[in-house]
Amino acid sequence: MAVALALLPALLAVLLAIPATSAAGGGTWLSLSASSAAFAAMATNLFLATRPRFLEPVFHGLDRMYRVHRALGITIVLLVLVHYVVAPNFQGLTLASGLNRLAKDLGEYAFYGLLVLAALSLVKRIPYTRFELPYGIWRQSHRLFGLVFLLVAIHQAFIKRPFDGAALLAVYLNLLAVIGIASFALTQLRPLLRGRRYLVTGVARAPGGTLVTARPASAGIRARPGQFAFIRFDRAGLGEAHPFTIAGGESGSNGQLRFAIRPLGDFTRRLRDTLQVGDAMVVEGGYGRFDPARGGARQIWIAGGIGITPFLSALDSALAVPGRQIHLFHCVRGAEEAIDRERLDAAARAEPGFAFTLHASAEAGRLGAGHIVSGCGFDPAGAELWFCGPSAMREGLVGDLVRQGKAPSRVEFERFEFR
Ligand SMILES: Cc1cc2nc3c(=O)[nH]c(=O)nc-3n(C[C@H](O)[C@H](O)[C@H](O)COP(=O)(O)OP(=O)(O)OC[C@H]3O[C@@H](n4cnc5c(N)ncnc54)[C@H](O)[C@@H]3O)c2cc1C
Repeated sequence: MAVALALLPALLAVLLAIPATSAAGGGTWLSLSASSAAFAAMATNLFLATRPRFLEPVFHGLDRMYRVHRALGITIVLLVLVHYVVAPNFQGLTLASGLNRLAKDLGEYAFYGLLVLAALSLVKRIPYTRFELPYGIWRQSHRLFGLVFLLVAIHQAFIKRPFDGAALLAVYLNLLAVIGIASFALTQLRPLLRGRRYLVTGVARAPGGTLVTARPASAGIRARPGQFAFIRFDRAGLGEAHPFTIAGGESGSNGQLRFAIRPLGDFTRRLRDTLQVGDAMVVEGGYGRFDPARGGARQIWIAGGIGITPFLSALDSALAVPGRQIHLFHCVRGAEEAIDRERLDAAARAEPGFAFTLHASAEAGRLGAGHIVSGCGFDPAGAELWFCGPSAMREGLVGDLVRQGKAPSRVEFERFEFR
């Protein structure tokens, strides 16, 4: 459904190219269909990059929206290659004005720019090396797609075409140009428009992660349990927004937010080393659809390491449903890495519907289906599996459960990576 929706503007361009190029032959239709569809898909991608919240239910979360965005990006490159290789027949139309010639040149610059940016975007690590393009550079280079789109918009509007400006295809492409450029502008302004200012009220450097609490300076964000937000700080080296799940707190102007942040790379380590109480923080969110309260009566929750965060904020609302049974397995290397262990143990003692197992792999080995079957307070067969952790761990566990005849009825998960 989400993929079909994302492809719709491109498909419409292909359909509109039929009457617009009917007199020019099949090759021209193919070439201009491909270029028009690529342009429509670029506008769609710029729109998705604005993080439209109202589309999250359709895409099932921002992480899935970004995956569609990426797949659409690959499709754009393929379509543009078709346009480049299959030359349209312009039936004697020549580039008459200076504007026509400029449009042609800009089209070529856009083509090479697109190929370079696509390579930078899609190749995360250089094959056979350990070199990974830093996220900051990836992000900055991604911004240049807006410029490429602008060049393509000028190219398509002023190049000689076998249809005139009144053709439906021409009107449609101009409309897409406006949508694409407006979306790009919105994305650049989004931190100003959607960011809410907070003040850091606590920084605790625990073995499992840095625990950060903050209160809103005025209006806070609106967020549901299990959602994540993009956060940045007014402190050197911490100014780039990164996504973190809200590990507790409330929405609105009085609500404190809490994050648990594992020091894995530059930003997260710097945050652990330098963040201070009183620092100003900007929060944009909440995003995401990982909310077990939406789920069924029997739920197994599995958290890999710092993947515990969405469960910490979702616990209370998920338990508010009478009769629901939840068993949370938190997998860590050593027990000292556990976060909020006391609170989870206390909830397990107080709530008949909730059980909690801290699984320390240094002692008990990797969590497998056997641990779940023997440890779970109810039969895991047919229960829902809510998972937050590495993909390989999820795939291994689900496969293992299926082989043991304990297949979950549904697997819900959140990816901790967008690129
Ligand atoms: C939806 C979601 C929820 C998350 N929740 C948590 C959480 O609760 N706790 C936690 O510890 N971690 C969480 N993460 C992971 C966290 O965002 C990354 O570990 C962090 O951004 C890494 O930044 P770094 O510079 O320290 O590491 P680096 O080594 O520089 O980056 C490691 C990887 O993190 C990703 N990344 C880096 N910078 C950004 C950025 N600005 N925006 C998006 N991704 C980036 C890239 O894929 C990169 O390859 C979450 C990620 C996502 C997508």
